[in-house]
Amino acid sequence: MKNDNSTHGGSSGTLWKKKDLLLLAAALIAACLLFFLYRFLSAAPAAYGEVSVNGEVVAELDLNQDTSLTVSGWNGGSNTIVVQNGAISVTEATCPDHVCIHTGEISRTGETIVCLPNRLIITIIQDGG
Ligand SMILES: [Zn+2]
Repeated sequence: MKNDNSTHGGSSGTLWKKKDLLLLAAALIAACLLFFLYRFLSAAPAAYGEVSVNGEVVAELDLNQDTSLTVSGWNGGSNTIVVQNGAISVTEATCPDHVCIHTGEISRTGETIVCLPNRLIITIIQDGG
């Protein structure tokens, strides 16, 4: 029963820690929300996809406008590029490896789809950034 006192003091200590954890969690959630809000506001509206073949820009695609186009690649190859819901992807290609198709959708600044056989590169670029 003499231990009762010390356990009491110990539990009040953990109470403080729980409060700290709660504050930490709240701060973390707030930071996450701010981060996503910032990302949404800064990355979404003014980005576009730059399509280049053999180092030459052949098209600039507005991410906010759903569209699809077929680009003639190097050496007679071709890639079908689709813009949908703010993301770019290659849906069809004549290349043997289909790496460009397997890359999937890109939507964030700096992301790229590369098709080496057709020398095609698609890059998301931040407008005015
Ligand atoms: Zn490819």
